[in-house]
Amino acid sequence: MGEEIKTVGIVGAGFTGKQIAAQTALNNFIVKVYDIDTKILEDAKKYITGVLKRKKQLEAIQNVSYYSELDKSLEDVELVIEAVPENLELKRKVFSQIDSLAPSKTIIATNSSSYPVSRIESAVKRRDKVLNMHFYPPIPTRPMADIMRGTETSDEIFEIGKNWIINIGCEPLIVKKECFGFVFNRIWHAVKKECIKMWAGGYADIEVIDTAWKIFTKMKLGPFTMMDGIGLDVAYAVEMSYYEESGDPKDKPPQAFREMVERGDLGLKTGKGFYTWKKKK
Ligand code: NAD
Repeated sequence: MGEEIKTVGIVGAGFTGKQIAAQTALNNFIVKVYDIDTKILEDAKKYITGVLKRKKQLEAIQNVSYYSELDKSLEDVELVIEAVPENLELKRKVFSQIDSLAPSKTIIATNSSSYPVSRIESAVKRRDKVLNMHFYPPIPTRPMADIMRGTETSDEIFEIGKNWIINIGCEPLIVKKECFGFVFNRIWHAVKKECIKMWAGGYADIEVIDTAWKIFTKMKLGPFTMMDGIGLDVAYAVEMSYYEESGDPKDKPPQAFREMVERGDLGLKTGKGFYTWKKKK
């Protein structure tokens, strides 16, 4: 098994979509990239071509094509990865469009960071052929993807999806039953939650926590530095989504974190977050 997929469609060629496309092309698949925004499509082409050139995979460049029309981008694809913005209604709409245009055998996967595909599947007829496939950019340094079923996904489709993740050089993180946060996002959430509580409760300084994390894990950045990099508005929204999902008061982000976001201290992008950042000259 593993030969079923030869051509992959990427719907949404932004930050994550273009990385999935490049990783797929690097591993000798045909890739069809679609975005509603032609400027994004041009940026994606530059990025993907650059990756393939750097890796000296020049022949793979011709295996990647770019489309502003969804129907053309879905011809002959066996798998489509949806990577449009994190909005449930938009994802349902896009799934429904793909369902009506792609060949009936095609698998449709969402790269959503939070929505289980079970909340999207009712938008399509092929409910046995939908998956969550969640990547962890930057993909070259974090080659792994969660894979999770919908309520009607067949074992065969799950197996094909898992093998495709392996065939593009990534580790499939198998989610055995529906789980908010999949495999690693959920673990990472637990780390961030405790770090924020330690800071808000005055138990330890952010520098101490980041230093401990770096020594223990050998990673270059600690959790507070990473959250500042991602943006505290995004980090706060993620914490809130876990709280809304569980309803457990222990999951509620501390007031001090909320106030930071309300003040506009959003991390690297505003110059101040947990840390103060100087602009590069
Ligand atoms: P992004 O904004 O960089 O890219 C989204 C792209 O979708 C844009 O280029 C936009 O033009 C395009 N788009 C919007 N509507 C569309 C439509 N109807 N059809 C086709 N394209 C459309 O966003 P992103 O950060 O790449 O996130 C995309 C998805 O990946 C989200 O679900 C997000 O949760 C998930 N994700 C993001 C990360 C991350 O680190 N950013 C990590 C894992 C998963």
